[in-house]
Amino acid sequence: MATGTLTIDLDALARNWKALDRASGAGVETGAVVKADGYGLGGDRVARVLAQAGARRFFVAAAEEGAQIRNALGPGPQICVFSGHMAGDTDMIGDLDLVPMLNSVDQLTRHMEGLPGRAFGIQLDTGMNRLGLEPAEWAAVRDIVLAAGPVLIMSHLACADEPGHPANLQQLTAFREMTDGCAVPRSLSATGGVLLGPNYHFDVTRPGMGVYGGLPFPEAEPVVGLSFPVIQTREVQPGESIGYGYTFTAPERRVVATVTAGYADGMHRALSNRGQLWFEGTPCPILGRVSMDLITADITHLGTVPPALDLLCPEQGVDAVADTAGTIGYEIMTSLGRRYARRYVGGAGT
Ligand SMILES: *Cc1c(COP(=O)(O)O)cnc(C)c1O
Repeated sequence: MATGTLTIDLDALARNWKALDRASGAGVETGAVVKADGYGLGGDRVARVLAQAGARRFFVAAAEEGAQIRNALGPGPQICVFSGHMAGDTDMIGDLDLVPMLNSVDQLTRHMEGLPGRAFGIQLDTGMNRLGLEPAEWAAVRDIVLAAGPVLIMSHLACADEPGHPANLQQLTAFREMTDGCAVPRSLSATGGVLLGPNYHFDVTRPGMGVYGGLPFPEAEPVVGLSFPVIQTREVQPGESIGYGYTFTAPERRVVATVTAGYADGMHRALSNRGQLWFEGTPCPILGRVSMDLITADITHLGTVPPALDLLCPEQGVDAVADTAGTIGYEIMTSLGRRYARRYVGGAGT
């Protein structure tokens, strides 16, 4: 028995991508970021649906993820690898026709020697200090690199989810200074950058999280539902406690339901005594600690024994759960458990 059922609305996913494609504007190509197994939803299904919706360029973090996406899509769509050309990845990159976004002079050398003449892109660091060539390095190799014909030059915004943050304009200016006149397609924006406006769009946008239904795209349609079967219910008398550490003691009689998921399924332990599960529009507070495989919730007020309780539902999306757990929707999505049964709805023809 699976520890929960993850329902993935592939039509909502496609609509979110199309909405971000429209927001990217005419003449701008909208790619799709499908790293981390499609933000936890199944990289192959997600990639096929987005390819059908019109995406032609996909982005992953690592070459292995690129292999999964290539197998799902077949030849044709471009698959770019953010981590670039890592030692040991040459055969995979070559055989599966992946496009490494080269991040350093070392990677440039490895690519030119290992796969001469094969497609590559360039990643520049414009201030985030995480990945990519720095301005001085870029200035030193720029002419040689441009002569070799990169297919894309990109950088990444650190603060795009805060439209007023001064780093956005600083990074935009740095990106322009480093790339103006290059005559190569350019990409700067993930979901947050798409919403910063046309100055940030360049030739290719790369939304991820907005496609999967969360912030920083406030208009995103929810894509994921998550529901846990109730294993057992019991009455807890005043003064009795619940769960590890006895962190909740009932002030009065309570009816408590135990459901089948826990932190091993990505249910953040920070939801202990704070989060809520839902039954048909009614919240049921989590009582006591989230265990590895179990959660206990208050169903006293339901007056019925529900077959299942929901974590993700119309009343409570990933960002609401993330808020309660003190994290971001991205982390909730990418820690969704492998023990869940996955039910895909929509996505006809994929
Ligand atoms: C993850 C990632 C994206 C997508 O970001 P979202 O905020 O999910 O849209 C785009 N570009 C790079 C370099 C990334 O690492």
